[in-house]
Amino acid sequence: MKTLLLKSHRSDIQKAGELLKNGGLVGIPTETVYGLAADAGNGAAVAEIFRAKGRPMDNPLIVHISRMAQLEGLISVFPEKARQLAAAFWPGPLTIILPKKEGVPDEVTAGLDTVAVRFPAHPVARAIIEAAGCPLAAPSANSSGKPSPTTAMHVMDDMNGKIAAVVDGGDCGVGVESTVITLATEPPRLLRPGGITPEELEAIIGPVEIDPAVTHQLAEGQQAASPGMKYKHYSPEADVILVKGSAAQYAAYVNAHKGDDVYAMCFTEDAGLLDVPVVPYGDAEHPETQAHLLFECLRKLDEMGAKTVYAHCPAETGVGLAVYNRILRAAGFEVIDCTEG
Ligand code: AMP
Ligand code: MG
Repeated sequence: MKTLLLKSHRSDIQKAGELLKNGGLVGIPTETVYGLAADAGNGAAVAEIFRAKGRPMDNPLIVHISRMAQLEGLISVFPEKARQLAAAFWPGPLTIILPKKEGVPDEVTAGLDTVAVRFPAHPVARAIIEAAGCPLAAPSANSSGKPSPTTAMHVMDDMNGKIAAVVDGGDCGVGVESTVITLATEPPRLLRPGGITPEELEAIIGPVEIDPAVTHQLAEGQQAASPGMKYKHYSPEADVILVKGSAAQYAAYVNAHKGDDVYAMCFTEDAGLLDVPVVPYGDAEHPETQAHLLFECLRKLDEMGAKTVYAHCPAETGVGLAVYNRILRAAGFEVIDCTEG
């Protein structure tokens, strides 16, 4: 299959809408990462997403809407706290899990009785949903397990020849996937951290539990509240190791382990302290920048031929929690703590 690289002007957006209406798969820009979209009402088209990504069938997708009226066909109840979150954060990088309406294809929800919904803020994403005329099911547009794509070229790298088209809408602002919260249980529970922080959620709806899988590896056989949490994820070819400590502690550890194809994914201010090649992913104090650069840096490290990457651990606060959660998975939970001794 030839994959079209479309632009974000009106006629190309119409073309993307036609392809989606006809059951095709299209890579679309959003404010979080690029999504791999299909008509959410077309189970056969949605099944193709799993094939293109090599995604396990038990990992459900997020349904993207461009108007509130579309919720009607997707969810069976819209609780008060969901209304409050939608009013505060939609359109934006927040996914809300709610009891699903019968008729949402099992391919979308992996057979669960809940559905994940998001109203993206990106104008091109919204225009494509409007052009398709239906909600779009879309996970991130990477091959399963790889870092999520934040440019149209990243999508092409993984999906060329496997999908109908990619719409180029520039690079993604947030850079990590949406915050996922479930309101299908009480109290509400954060399943995946993202651009909307736990503090921001709690300011609107009160206490929110943080699912243990956000910061810890699930034990063998333990059930994941969000199926995506149980897989190794976001990983480049290189072995990633997360290192906790001050700039000096981090640099001392990395310099003691330098060798062929050893790289540092460090903070900007660490760079001068390191004796190995560096790929900085922002200042230690700016988690928003780290989120924006993270996946691009992981892809870049592969291009550079890195075999081992020591990543400097971000602070787990605010948007930093999302950055920490993604690197922890990229590292397969391998963490070196240099803060003691
Ligand atoms: P992606 O954005 O590519 O990471 O894929 C969507 C994420 O949302 C995955 O981590 C899924 O496990 C999660 N998700 C989607 N639907 C549900 C649901 N009904 N319940 C829990 N998690 C969900
Ligand atoms: Mg993903």
